[in-house]
Parts: sequence; structure tokens; C-alpha cells
Amino acid sequence: MYQNVVEYLNPTELYTFTLSYASICDGPILTTYTVVKNALFNGNKNIKTRMERIYAQVIANTIFIPKPIRLLSLLTMKHCECCNMQPINFVTDYGLALCLPCKKKNTSRIEMKATKVLRSKIEMNDIIQNQKVNLVPHHCVKEQPNLGYYSRSLLVYYVLNEPFFDENNNRLGPIITHKQLSEMLNLPSYEAVEKYIEDNTPDQSQARRMFIQAMTLLREKIFDINEKKALERSVKVKRFRFKKYLNTTQAIAFLLERVPEHLRFKLDYNIQFSFYRQNDRARRAKMDEIRMLANAAESPAAAVQAILNQGPPDGVVSIWIRCNKTAGIIKPLLSCPTKYNDETKKSHRANLLELARMICKHYKAPCENEFPATW
Ligand SMILES: [Zn+2]
Repeated sequence: MYQNVVEYLNPTELYTFTLSYASICDGPILTTYTVVKNALFNGNKNIKTRMERIYAQVIANTIFIPKPIRLLSLLTMKHCECCNMQPINFVTDYGLALCLPCKKKNTSRIEMKATKVLRSKIEMNDIIQNQKVNLVPHHCVKEQPNLGYYSRSLLVYYVLNEPFFDENNNRLGPIITHKQLSEMLNLPSYEAVEKYIEDNTPDQSQARRMFIQAMTLLREKIFDINEKKALERSVKVKRFRFKKYLNTTQAIAFLLERVPEHLRFKLDYNIQFSFYRQNDRARRAKMDEIRMLANAAESPAAAVQAILNQGPPDGVVSIWIRCNKTAGIIKPLLSCPTKYNDETKKSHRANLLELARMICKHYKAPCENEFPATW
């Protein structure tokens, strides 16, 4: 039953649901796979970004792999988990949800030293260079700034000061903290440092493997689904645009019948096609292709349909009234044709008649409520 429900909940709902459900029947009901799937399929952009950030840290093996429920809470957390006050919108590099002030307060800067200033028995450089100390560099500084490009770069790290615990006293967040680094600095030999690292590295290969498996499997799936969705959306948009074109031409035909014959040329129009493409050359080639399509079609409507179907997804067909004055008068019709050409609604017909009247009035032609079809 649980698995069926999960499909329809977004991550926030899933979190509250799991909390209340777990109180009814205890035991692990949530798996990493479920959480990852739910986040990628039902989560919004923000949640997906958080997921990717956490995943990057899991791959780098710099954090304690979050348990499913912790992962879910991390994805949906709205406030800083340190001060519980500030709203947050991303997960930090420490696998924690911290606001900027708390992040600044709780981290220290470690700069790699240049070789000439390495003096003591054990230096921070030695510890960081150990493969099992996975620290992610934050940025670089130049050893000799006045040399510019030719200067050697020194890496700068930011490390959380104190280990982070959850309410059950389990470690969360980064594996290496500043406290441990300074403890290692005071050890008598490098062998002791290596032993210290060995003793303090958690065994989480199983959890890590499961996380990576879930992520690699689902990310591919979600990509396919998104692609399909985008295609469906573009087909829908094209259909809508074609309908809009038909409505406008019908409305103009309606207007033509109600305008004196000597004014009808004022409603002559061109069909224009436009789309956005950065590359000028590709744009010109596409334009030529579209022009050929339009020429090959047997009717204007068929041409528009062909252009929309085979043009780029962001292509727009617009109707361009040649006479500026008339275009100004019937602008509301051109911008929202569906409103003006719905036969079932009387007010739209009235609107169209009003437009016809306005055109006549503008060109000082006699007008009545309804002109006969033949003037
Ligand atoms: Zn905070």
C-alpha cells in the first residue's frame, strides 16, 4: 500500500506521510531508491538540484551517507538546521542545510602552505594530501600574486569546525571536521595520523553503492520522461498556434463581409513566421527551408500548418495587416483571436461587429448594424 501512495506524493508530502505512518507501524519502510525516485519524479527544480548536490558529495565520499528519512528531510528542509530561523534554499557542501550566517560562523578556512614555509613534523598539507581525507577545495589563491599567470596556485578549503549530530546522536554531514584535523596536527608521527584516519573513516560502502545505483538508474529514466514531456508540450503548442491562426482568418473573413467593398483592401494581410535562433547562418538556412515549404503548400492554411509542424519548436506564425491604421483598430482581435471568434458566444460576435463599425467610422464610410454580405 505504501509503495502505491508514494507515486502520487511530492517529497514534502511524502516526508510528513512517512513521519505519521512510521509512528503507526515501526520498521524501515522507506528506502533510498524510493526517496531518490520520488525526488526526481515528483520534486520541483529546487529539490532536484539539492538531490544532485547531495549526490556529488556521496560520490566524493565526503559526507556520511544520509539514511532515507534523513535524505528526505534534507531535500524538503525549509529552515537552517543550525539556527532553525533563517530560510534556506540549497544544501551546503557539507551535506547539511545551513544558512549563510551559520555557515560562516561554523566553518574555518584552511589554506595550503607554500613548500618553503613547511617546517614542522606534520603539516596540514600532509594530512590533506592523504587519499582518505576527502576535502573538496573551495578556490585557489596565487602563491605570488604579482607573478600572475606564472605563479603557483594554492588550494583553499573550508571545513566545518565541529562534528554534527542528529537527535539520536548519529553523525551527520562531513566526515572530516576542523576539530579532527587539528587533533591530527598534534599527533607525534605520520603513522599515528594514518592510524587516526583509518579509525575515523566510517564503513559506508554498502549505503554508498545503493545510493549511486539508485541515482544512475533513475537519472536516465527521468531524462527520457522529460524529453517525451517536452515533445508533447511542443505538439500541443503548435496545435494551439494553428487554431489561433484559423480563428483569426475566420474573424477577418467575418469583418470583410461587413465592410464596404472599397475598404476591403485595408484588411489585406501577410503571414509572417518568426523564431529565435542565435546563429545567424543557421537561421537563414531554416528561413529558406520554411519559405520553400510555404510555397509548396496548396492553401494558406496548409502552408501555415506545414510551417508550424516542420519549423523549430519556438516558431510563431503571425498575421500582419498591411495597413497600419486598420491594424491598430483590430489589434485586440489579432492579439486574442479566440475571444473574438467563438460562435457559441454572442458577445464575441457583437465585439466583431463593433470592430467592423469602428473600421467604417475611421474611414468615414456609412455603416449600419449589419451590412449585407454584398455591398
Ligand atoms: Zn542558520
